[in-house]
Amino acid sequence: MTANTALTLDDAAPAAAAKPAEARNIMIVGVGGQGVLMISKVMALMGQRQGLQVKQSEVHGMAKRGGIVFSHVRFGSEVWSPTIAKGEADALIALEWAEGLRWLDHLKPDSGVFIADTRRIVPPFACRSRKHGATTNYARETPAEIVSRIADGYALDATTIADDLGDVRAANTVLLGTLSVSLDYPVADWLAVIEELVPKRTRDINRKAFEAGRAWAEAARLDPELRFDKSITRRPAFRPHPEVSFEVEVNEAWCKGCDICVKLCPERCLAMSREHIATVAHPEACTGCHVCEWLCPDFAISVKTTVREPVSM
Ligand code: SF4
Ligand code: SF4
Repeated sequence: MTANTALTLDDAAPAAAAKPAEARNIMIVGVGGQGVLMISKVMALMGQRQGLQVKQSEVHGMAKRGGIVFSHVRFGSEVWSPTIAKGEADALIALEWAEGLRWLDHLKPDSGVFIADTRRIVPPFACRSRKHGATTNYARETPAEIVSRIADGYALDATTIADDLGDVRAANTVLLGTLSVSLDYPVADWLAVIEELVPKRTRDINRKAFEAGRAWAEAARLDPELRFDKSITRRPAFRPHPEVSFEVEVNEAWCKGCDICVKLCPERCLAMSREHIATVAHPEACTGCHVCEWLCPDFAISVKTTVREPVSM
């Protein structure tokens, strides 16, 4: 679903600051439920409060199911298109790490600023295998590698910062605080806009989250070593996982050969024997999903799971 909203000068608040010479282009990307649209609304209202034309464009397909969400916000003395072309974004704010990497080519090569939460939400299509502990083809680049490749960048664990403050949902406001260091607007204006847009009961946590993100960015500006969260360089895929194995057993006396389990096993592990009894033809492919066990009308098939913790070195 796409929604374009043009907010005009008629809606602008009177406290206008000096107009920037050209339009500001802000991209916000993430997945459903992370607060992409809240950041987008804050940026649109910030533009209005400067007495500028604002255009906002959103895509939020399957947003409630963790689907991709992105928003373009453009503001300036005169803005025509609601979308931002490749190489034209002044800032790219990513609430999810891999989503941020997907849109990097939209940043202005010489001046664009990348601000990303290092939190990873691995989408189903990045899973090569449904087995426990299987490696994924999720983005492997570390924040240090990415930040060194772009004009200006910050990669922080905004989710943990917000969680430590008391509400993980304020991670998007942490990122707004970080962005505020790169955009020349008064802190009081940011806080007034955030306060206006968030629910009353969350004003306090959102103010703290904004201040925490801003303090983090101010420190990172002075010391480039702080510009990326080093903890993320420990790539999760290399963490030792428990070893999990599955054993599928068919009670031949109870199996009536209805074929249901064979047809519905998502990994095609099962087959029918010449005697019309279900057999486990590919035990190595079993992911332990229990579908066969749950759907057998005769309780003739069972799945046993064994978990062995990794030996610590
Ligand atoms: S638990 Fe059953 S349905 Fe699931 S993968 Fe293993 S054999 Fe197939
Ligand atoms: S679903 Fe049950 S009864 Fe049917 S073939 Fe499989 S094990 Fe046999």
